[in-house]
Parts: sequence; structure tokens; C-alpha cells
Amino acid sequence: MRRIGSNIRKQISDAKANRITKNIIRYSDDEQPRNDYPRCIVSPVRPSTCCSDENRAMVGNTRVVDGFKFCYKICQECGHAVRFYFPAIDSTSPAVKEYRQWKRYMVQ
Ligand SMILES: [Zn+2]
Repeated sequence: MRRIGSNIRKQISDAKANRITKNIIRYSDDEQPRNDYPRCIVSPVRPSTCCSDENRAMVGNTRVVDGFKFCYKICQECGHAVRFYFPAIDSTSPAVKEYRQWKRYMVQ
């Protein structure tokens, strides 16, 4: 019985490890911007004029998930955070679509 129980616990911790791919950025205008990486990052809902590449600092380590490199970047002026994907080779994967979504977001 104990062995079964520990197996279940292991599966739960594996599931938690997989959750690392989920977006940890929480967009909120009611809370102060906060960098609580890797647990969560509280970011203003909208970027401001200060949110240039120069002001955006990389947070934590670059992660590789399914061959895609990404990291979180936070504006040092206002705390606006984005999930930044490095350009990838495979153009059909969801990660690339998300990267393109982000690029579109930046153009607005
Ligand atoms: Zn900013």
C-alpha cells in the first residue's frame, strides 16, 4: 500500500514539473508589479512607451521546452512582463504561433 501511495505522489510531482511550461505571468492593474519568479510575475496589463528592448531585462534562466528556447522579460521601468520566445526552426508548432502572437502584440 505504501508503495502505491508513493507512486501516486511521484506522478503528482511529475505533473508539477510539466507545469513549468505554463505562463507564470499574471496580468493585473489592481496589484503592484512584482517579480516572484519562478512562482509568478505580476505585470501591468498593458505595456507602456518605456517597454523597449533596452528596458526589458531577462528574468531567470532561458528554458528549453520541446526544442524551443524561451525566457521571461520584465520592463525595469513599469514591470510589464512578456514571455519571450527565441526564433525557432519548426514553424508548425504551437510555441511558434505563440511567439508570433507576441510579435503581433509588440507591433500594436
Ligand atoms: Zn515599461
